[in-house]
Amino acid sequence: MPHSQRRIGVLGGTFDPIHHGHLAAASEVAAALDLDQVLLVPVHSQPFKLDRLAAAPEHRLAMCRLAVEGDDRLDVSDVDIARGGVTYTLDTLTDLHAQAPDAELFFITGSDALARLHEWKDAERLTSLARFIGVTRPGHSLPDLDMPHTLVEVPAMAVSSTDVRRRVRTGAPIRYLVPRAVADYIAKHDLYAGGMDD
Ligand code: ATP
Ligand code: MG
Repeated sequence: MPHSQRRIGVLGGTFDPIHHGHLAAASEVAAALDLDQVLLVPVHSQPFKLDRLAAAPEHRLAMCRLAVEGDDRLDVSDVDIARGGVTYTLDTLTDLHAQAPDAELFFITGSDALARLHEWKDAERLTSLARFIGVTRPGHSLPDLDMPHTLVEVPAMAVSSTDVRRRVRTGAPIRYLVPRAVADYIAKHDLYAGGMDD
């Protein structure tokens, strides 16, 4: 039976850069929960990552847009980058809810991010704006959470943006870890080639 409300998944992240782990998770949750759309929402700046070297928001947004080309169910929202400043999920969900007041929102997080949910601003209020969907991620066990959430097992992809950045810096291959257009974009704009990382 069709759902009465439009169902929109929201995958927030730094996407520095976007990789196949993000895309596999978005696609798997869309199928598992019968979502109409999953929005990738790159943060402007991330409260836990203020000290890290990151590509400019415009670059991260552009790479997300390239990555979803050709998949009708995946899209990109620039709400967080357009708002600017430190991104809080409460603002993300509030803005997306205002844009689509009749839709049901599903906020998707990997197990590593889920484990830090208690540190998030207004964690309880978040659950009134969206259903929380935890996805499995290799190397990160699922935390015990006292807030309601749904778990979705996604095909294990042991890729992280940190690893992609490190690979670019050291000349190791990234070709099958990120979409081809993203690899081309990184090369063209000489991203991640210098500087420090964790
Ligand atoms: P970084 O290494 O810079 O932290 P990352 O690979 O963790 O990058 P983020 O942009 O921090 O990517 O992650 C955005 C969201 O996607 C988070 O909820 C994270 O848990 C989830 N995620 C990232 N990579 C994977 C993966 N390989 N499998 C499942 N979920 C993932
Ligand atoms: Mg991360």
